[in-house]
Amino acid sequence: MGSEAERRRELEALLKADWKELPRALIVEPATSKYYYTGDWRTFKPVRDKGKCIGCLLCWVYCPEGCIYITEDGGVDVDLNYCKGCGICARECPLQAIAMVEE
Ligand code: SF4
Ligand code: SF4
Repeated sequence: MGSEAERRRELEALLKADWKELPRALIVEPATSKYYYTGDWRTFKPVRDKGKCIGCLLCWVYCPEGCIYITEDGGVDVDLNYCKGCGICARECPLQAIAMVEE
């Protein structure tokens, strides 16, 4: 199996092909959403203030992309490849520990 970048290129080429050339099943491969870097759309990114964060994980619960993950120190961090910058985490954080910063 090739690298993730190669797999992404192959999938993008397939999706650009004429629909008549697509394989019969609509789902050509499971778990392909990981090749769509929704972070490409982003204008603002979430930045967490570690001093304010209490690790309540509400941001993790509310993130629609599932791109917030728990770090070894019990805090949270964001996988920016998949964060689309919607700002829901910042809105839901009870301590305003997340600021949306223009990129
Ligand atoms: S900005 Fe939106 S997508 Fe990004 S981490 Fe926050 S809730 Fe998730
Ligand atoms: S919602 Fe706010 S306080 Fe809770 S874990 Fe996320 S950043 Fe920290």
